[in-house]
Amino acid sequence: MTKVTEFIRRAEGKTLFSIEIIPPLKGQNINELLNSIEPLMEFKPPFVDVTYHREELIDRVASDGTIERIPIRKRPGTVGICARLMERFHVDAVPHVICGGFTKDETEDVLIDLYYLGIDNVLVLRGDPEKSAGIFKPKAGGHTYASELVTQVDNMNKGILLNAETEMHATDFCIGVAGYPEKHFDATSFDTDYAHLKRKIELGANYIVTQMFFDNQKYFQFVERCRAEGITVPVIPGLKPLSTRKQLSVLADIFHLEFPKELVDEVNKCASDKDVRQVGVEWGIQQCKELMAYGVPVLHFYTMGKSDNVSQIARQVF
Ligand code: FAD
Repeated sequence: MTKVTEFIRRAEGKTLFSIEIIPPLKGQNINELLNSIEPLMEFKPPFVDVTYHREELIDRVASDGTIERIPIRKRPGTVGICARLMERFHVDAVPHVICGGFTKDETEDVLIDLYYLGIDNVLVLRGDPEKSAGIFKPKAGGHTYASELVTQVDNMNKGILLNAETEMHATDFCIGVAGYPEKHFDATSFDTDYAHLKRKIELGANYIVTQMFFDNQKYFQFVERCRAEGITVPVIPGLKPLSTRKQLSVLADIFHLEFPKELVDEVNKCASDKDVRQVGVEWGIQQCKELMAYGVPVLHFYTMGKSDNVSQIARQVF
């Protein structure tokens, strides 16, 4: 298997295409997801990211009529999906590995599974807060920040396990981390956010994937600031085509981002979500053309399991 940074190096400045997918809800058919992304294989993604989802506490009525809170992982299967992706599409899978909901030992076991599967890339993240809690709380014995998980993976790359008495054949994971052109919502300032991002790179991360953005200027400013801070690794832009009017508020709330006025004005002229989807495609094409002219290493699309609008964009720019 090939490292993401090696794909970028081999492309010699040519922009690559890649996607992120989300595991289906528990119990759903995996083939539906795989079939839905099959049309995107035309654009030859060298790698496909698969998100990881923590357990959520949900209320359930117990047999005695009382309400009990039980942990449920609504979207399990990240590691299995990676195996299926590699087998069916001959792409490299990039599983996301998160701090939230895992002890360090549980994380170590996941990483060993990935190593045995021949997976050489991981995107290392803190993870979203548990929805009912609102703020991020680590599991007892787990990591609080992505930087700590970067260190754990980097240690495994040096053959060091948590229990130092157990020897391990060194892994060789290429480590990606997240970056936020519009600042991470928990960060007290841009300055601290860049300092924490830099720390992840110093501890062993090899590249950055950004949160989605709709204004390329935010990405350009982000890359310039990274370079000024001495962060020299590739910065892969994360992109999502807008597809419904509601997303203007939903995505802004969840991901703490601003939509350019020009895009909002275009959406407001639309009579239906079908029209919004077309606006999203046209905006995406312009965004991608400008990013390619800037020389981005990869255009990385958050597909959320839907491929038609990403296909329309990719067909115009690749
Ligand atoms: P961190 O790098 O740990 O940063 C989190 C916050 O803490 C930031 O505000 C940072 O400035 C601050 N911080 C960092 N270190 C310190 C420190 N030492 N002291 C004080 N403050 C500090 N979530 C999922 O659950 N599953 C996924 O699969 C997933 N995939 C994602 C993919 C991408 C490309 C992106 C951009 C996000 C993804 N997320 C995913 C969401 C992500 O987990 C959340 O945004 C999370 O809130 C932060 O993750 P992080 O890795 O950036 O955290």
